Amino acid sequence: MALVELSDIRKSFGKVNVLGGINLSFGKEREYVIQGASGSGKSTLLYLLGGLDTPSSGKVMIDNMDLAHFGDEELAKYRNTFVGFVFQFHFLLSSLNCLDNILLPSKLGDFDESAIKNRVLELAHFLGVSHSLEKNPFELSGGEQQRINIIRALSLKPKLLLCDEPTGSLDSENSAKVIGLLKKLSKEFGATLVLVTHNGEIASTFDSIINIQDGLIKA
Ligand code: ADP
Ligand code: MG
Repeated sequence: MALVELSDIRKSFGKVNVLGGINLSFGKEREYVIQGASGSGKSTLLYLLGGLDTPSSGKVMIDNMDLAHFGDEELAKYRNTFVGFVFQFHFLLSSLNCLDNILLPSKLGDFDESAIKNRVLELAHFLGVSHSLEKNPFELSGGEQQRINIIRALSLKPKLLLCDEPTGSLDSENSAKVIGLLKKLSKEFGATLVLVTHNGEIASTFDSIINIQDGLIKA
């Protein structure tokens, strides 16, 4: 059974049709890359997958449950714990140090905080940013900030890891590293990875490549 199943997803903003009927299936513990020109609808698709927006029509099935039937509480839980997000630009709060930024999602639910903290420390060690945890995000380089984002996204062991051009602000060496880490970590935690990029070199390292053009999947 698929983890996520999209059927005939359409999305318009006013009169602008952004997604024109998307059918896709994402398997459990698999990795997918979504490729397409700027403006083709990649981010829109990712937001729909993550429950950050709703389609104009069509169905998003998560583990065989219709996302449209989720209540507010279920939806918040879905966004916070089932899904992990990594965006191109960091969304870290400058008023908190990196560790508190990472632990923020875990404070929104009923979690074993000490277990999560141990996990976070382990991840930080693995990603080489242990020394950055007590610092404020603005004291870090772009690459370090992105690692902090990744730790935050993975801190609650999401089943679905959504990454929107996560290496857009990194050089090619760091990009390759970050992509490698996202793949390795999602495998380790049994997550399905869906990553958006317009970097063909990165895309070619994925088994499943989804091409999107003008809001439609291209064979
Ligand atoms: P991509 O991520 O592939 O660059 P997006 O999904 O961000 O593309 O956007 C696809 C199209 O939808 C663009 O033309 C964009 O301007 C439009 N769009 C995206 N979000 C909105 C919004 N909230 N309101 C109006 N138009 C939007
Ligand atoms: Mg985008």
